[in-house]
Amino acid sequence: MIKVAINGYGTVGKRVADAVAAQKDMKVVGVSKTRPNAEAFVAKQRGYPLYIADLSKKPAFEKVGLSVAGSVEDMCKQADVVVDATPGDIGATNKPLYEKLGIRAIWQGGEDHEVAGFSFNSSCNYKDAIGRKFVRVVSCNTTGLCRIIHAIDQEYGVAHVHAIMVRRGSDPGEIKKGPIDAIVLDPVSVPSHHGPDVLTVLPRISITTMAMIVPTTMMHMHAIQITTKKDVARDRVIELIKTHPRMGLIKKSAGIKSTAELKEFAMDLGRPRSDLYENCIFEDSIYANGKELCFFQAIHQEADIVVENIDAIRAMMGAEKDAAKSIKMTNDALGFSPIQNNH
Ligand code: NAD
Repeated sequence: MIKVAINGYGTVGKRVADAVAAQKDMKVVGVSKTRPNAEAFVAKQRGYPLYIADLSKKPAFEKVGLSVAGSVEDMCKQADVVVDATPGDIGATNKPLYEKLGIRAIWQGGEDHEVAGFSFNSSCNYKDAIGRKFVRVVSCNTTGLCRIIHAIDQEYGVAHVHAIMVRRGSDPGEIKKGPIDAIVLDPVSVPSHHGPDVLTVLPRISITTMAMIVPTTMMHMHAIQITTKKDVARDRVIELIKTHPRMGLIKKSAGIKSTAELKEFAMDLGRPRSDLYENCIFEDSIYANGKELCFFQAIHQEADIVVENIDAIRAMMGAEKDAAKSIKMTNDALGFSPIQNNH
């Protein structure tokens, strides 16, 4: 059993904890919170030992009936690997602790590549993560881009990618972020950070990205145009998507034209937290003409990186050397069947 600690039990951390708990070869040894909020009660309900970043807050937790198992350091001492899911830029400040304890650590996309010196995507560079001490799982948008770009590159060779990211303004549970009534260019300048971030995983890809934020919470939407080296066949692209373990096809028959309908579908299918772990690529948007390929894909920001964290744990621990086997183990444990199998 691989013993996993989750430092930061928020949007990403709580999902990673449940995904770890679902794996046959992994166990949650603890999760950490900074304050006793609703998520801390969820951790208690799930039976995850609760640790806290600042022990002086222990009475505040105990006052509301939440028992505290110890400090974040105590938690890390129990683990083989810690998944750091604290907010962006906080994770890097935890690195000295992990180094002191000699524990393996995974950071999220809110941290810079340099925190780990290695950026991960299980479909692209799983083998390079085997045995590593530190790994960074790239952001939700970068994960979605890497999956599809790598698949197209392997089949046709990618000459250039141009991607426009229409990003959600906040996660559903965040009440203080926006915008409420604006389309915000984020950043105004081109390229956005996503293109360079893709290069941390796929260094030989030529890519330009632009990004904006809109008043929605459910998902991101990407408009992607890829110039390939060989002529593209639309049917083959559809086949590549259908057979990829982390990509899904939204067929015309479902009549889905929006992130709202897609999340509703995921809820109705009974997905945990209505999570969509796969890239959701709209079949009808797939346009292939010579060396030009265009399509829309929706990315569930809270979910696609969760399964990547699980594979990263297995690779770092050397528990499974084959990416495809790890991906299958992860997917199967979550009972995850790609979206096209359901319509
Ligand atoms: P979040 O704010 O929802 O959760 C962070 C958790 O960490 C909270 O429970 C908070 O209490 C806790 N925390 C705060 N400071 C801490 C500290 N010093 N020590 C321990 N715990 C602390 O954040 P999130 O959205 O889950 O993001 C976590 C990371 O994942 C970030 O790097 C982010 O960029 C990345 N990420 C987020 C999303 C998303 O959709 N939210 C998607 C991909 C990647």
